[in-house]
Amino acid sequence: MIDLRSDTLTLPSKEMLATILTADLGDDGRLSKDGRGEDNTVNRLEDLAAKMTGKEAAVLFSSGTLGNHGALMAYCEPGDRVLVDVRQHILKAEKAMFSEKCGQLVPVLYSYDQNGLPVISEIEAALKEGGIKLICIENTHNSFGGAVMPISCLKEIRALADEYGVPVHMDGARLFNAAVALGVGAEEICRYADSVMFCISKGLGAPVGSLVCGGREFSKRAKDARKLLGGTMRQAGIIAAPGIYALEHNVDRLKDDHQNARLLADSIRECKRIKPQQRVMSNIVMIDVEGTGLSAGECCERLYEMGLSIYPSQTPYEIRLVFHLGVSHEDTLKAIEILKEFDKSL
Ligand SMILES: *Cc1c(COP(=O)(O)O)cnc(C)c1O
Repeated sequence: MIDLRSDTLTLPSKEMLATILTADLGDDGRLSKDGRGEDNTVNRLEDLAAKMTGKEAAVLFSSGTLGNHGALMAYCEPGDRVLVDVRQHILKAEKAMFSEKCGQLVPVLYSYDQNGLPVISEIEAALKEGGIKLICIENTHNSFGGAVMPISCLKEIRALADEYGVPVHMDGARLFNAAVALGVGAEEICRYADSVMFCISKGLGAPVGSLVCGGREFSKRAKDARKLLGGTMRQAGIIAAPGIYALEHNVDRLKDDHQNARLLADSIRECKRIKPQQRVMSNIVMIDVEGTGLSAGECCERLYEMGLSIYPSQTPYEIRLVFHLGVSHEDTLKAIEILKEFDKSL
């Protein structure tokens, strides 16, 4: 079975797991006067994450979802208005910060255009209207097919944020995919946002964890929010050690995943009924299956029978394919064959 459901499926390598056995551990929930925990491995990971994103500090969370919650709570109070795009993960998948039961934030929406870019004029119009507490962006964008924001776009958003005095939080679950796709360091991307969340548990291949990075004061508030949410961990060096390994070994190879993604999309362009997204920018490929006469779910069921495990996206006729270190070039070639056969069979 070729499994392209998600890059959260990556399994830790032996070398990565070995880092756990020698990790220097302590109680990360016991804070010193300067707000650091007692687990030296967590501190090492947080310092590395801060350095790689060009921020003053970082806080380890058990998941990207919890990390985004912590970041939003560091900026906002219930009732605050927050700019998010129409398909943003924090709004559509996580939901909690915008729910009545939990964060009670009020979403103000901006859309994305055909080229996978946020519509800047809509962001500007909302800021002009006033009362916006935070601008949220997602880079790469999960449900817009791994869309990477060009630096010029980040600059435009930053300029508006400065003009209206509103901070920017970037959901960079796949931040390093964006960096590799643009051929720049992550800090080149993060300088346009006040804070960023990125996952070590996705394409980077670590088993657990996400980091929220930003200024020192922001990070303190994010750590307070983490505690409030029950997200404090103890000997979390056990998850931080593989995270350090991931950041030191698995960033550059993300380009292989992007190559495989592009190869797959380009190889099925002549298919009659399934249509891959036009521009593949990172490790995600969306396929439009409206022409098959089947729903996305039905397509996935049939493809599963043929040896390809994939999953529907947010809209009724889209399926999402995700490439990661567990998917080889050979796997990609097999997936291409299965998709071509599926298309012919319709
Ligand atoms: C996966 C993902 C998250 C959250 O990550 P979890 O660790 O699964 O909670 C947040 N934002 C985006 C865009 C994601 O793809």
